[in-house]
Amino acid sequence: MLSIQLYDTTLRDGTQKEGVSFSVVDKLHIARKLDELGIHFIEGGWPGSNPKDVEFFSRAKSLNLSCSQLVAFGSTRRHKTETETDANLMALADAGVEVVTIVGKASELQVTQVLETTLDENLSMIADSISYLKAKGLTVFFDAEHFFDGFKTNADYALRCLMTAAEAGADCLVLCDTNGGAIPDEITAAVTAAGKLTSVPLSIHAHNDGELAVANTLAAVQAGVSQVQGTINGYGERCGNANLCSIIPALKLKMGIDCVTGTQLAKLTEVSHYVSEAANLAPDAFLPYVGFSAFGHKAGLHVSGLAKWVDSYQHIDPGQVGNRPRVLVSELSGKKNILYKAKELGLDLPAQGKEAQTLLEQVKLLESRGFQYDNAEASFELLLHRVKPDYKSPFELVDFMVVVEKRRRPPTRKNLEEMLSEAMVKVRVGGEVIHTAAEGNGPVNALDQALRKALIQFYPNLAQVRLVDYKVRILEESVGTEAQVRVLIESSDGVDEWQTVGSSTNIIEASWLALADGLEYWLLKQKSIT
Ligand SMILES: [Zn+2]
Repeated sequence: MLSIQLYDTTLRDGTQKEGVSFSVVDKLHIARKLDELGIHFIEGGWPGSNPKDVEFFSRAKSLNLSCSQLVAFGSTRRHKTETETDANLMALADAGVEVVTIVGKASELQVTQVLETTLDENLSMIADSISYLKAKGLTVFFDAEHFFDGFKTNADYALRCLMTAAEAGADCLVLCDTNGGAIPDEITAAVTAAGKLTSVPLSIHAHNDGELAVANTLAAVQAGVSQVQGTINGYGERCGNANLCSIIPALKLKMGIDCVTGTQLAKLTEVSHYVSEAANLAPDAFLPYVGFSAFGHKAGLHVSGLAKWVDSYQHIDPGQVGNRPRVLVSELSGKKNILYKAKELGLDLPAQGKEAQTLLEQVKLLESRGFQYDNAEASFELLLHRVKPDYKSPFELVDFMVVVEKRRRPPTRKNLEEMLSEAMVKVRVGGEVIHTAAEGNGPVNALDQALRKALIQFYPNLAQVRLVDYKVRILEESVGTEAQVRVLIESSDGVDEWQTVGSSTNIIEASWLALADGLEYWLLKQKSIT
């Protein structure tokens, strides 16, 4: 059976999407998820371009990925420079990975108009850079930028760029539709021409400006490429990259091509949602395969058809991609999911017991109020503990008050106006009630400080817990400032990171719930260790 290698560039090209920015921790988490999905190559970033990516590659060494290989991205040497002194190539060689991808121009017009150099110098840049990296013992993929546009205007030169890369030792030639304007027929013709010329494996990297990135990718596969590149949810510059969440199931389920296992494919929806949460974007409900609505049935006719024959109105079994038909969600399947999750977390709940039922009802109620546990496993684990009759929380909030004030300062001070936030918190620990107050640079920060001040008297180790990420999501945009708000918080003690969630129409309350969960979770873990 034909097999295809999957190459994900969510962490590099995907971050070019407007409004998307991943922290290093986000990137590490996403890499782990992509590994679970069975992605063969994960492009982690461009170590020559920013310190965040350098940090990512250095921390990624401890990820111990089981399926995926990390890839560092960079470009060919600059023109009129030596490879040995090219900072970008040196950063690639020092990234600590075995596979690198370098981008070079494969279009006559791009070379003369944009790079402003000669066609021969561009070929030398390609050859020199690949030879340099090959001499370092690396596997080198050559990203032939603007290949398809270049093939249209000067096919000869576009193919010469590929041949130059192949002769210099490139291990894979990545054919790029950089501007995203090609149509499937053009892709087929150019891939076929390249395939006739060289036996070096080919790859496709398509952008979605003509909404054809997935179609173009599949056309390239049919024309003989053995690697496909794309991003989760199609994130990428302008209209995005080819969407791996559509490509992977199409390859596996429609074309019978081996690329991931059935178990890995069933993680697709989870990974898609995970990445959108990390990007702080609402998951697109209408995405094929992985969207909330992809297998939703509203029409009565469809629903009655489904009741008679499950496949009457769906193109695949949604379970294959980890999604589910919306009308068929039963109490039973919900309970099964919860029991499964509990087991995964090492907390066995009896299937027939009252606890599982109570938990199911709670989760449903909380989800209807905007809580969401896909990216907040620590909050979910706390729910599991809280349904146990003998559970005792390490602290309880009695009440809190937050004051935000805009003050004028004395005219001698530089900033004449300042915002002040102060929080007062009353917390019960054991039998004792403690009352504290603290200031902060904002209301949430003040609340966080006051709560810690109270708890640290009882749990001094809490000082090592830090808030590392704080994300706010408006859930019903149309109702404006009255909207339900979901807050996702990531905390760290320097060793582990965990995520908690809060939801309310009041942003302070939503933040409080997520903050308190973050601290309670850590205290609970400490208790179970000691
Ligand atoms: Zn791209």
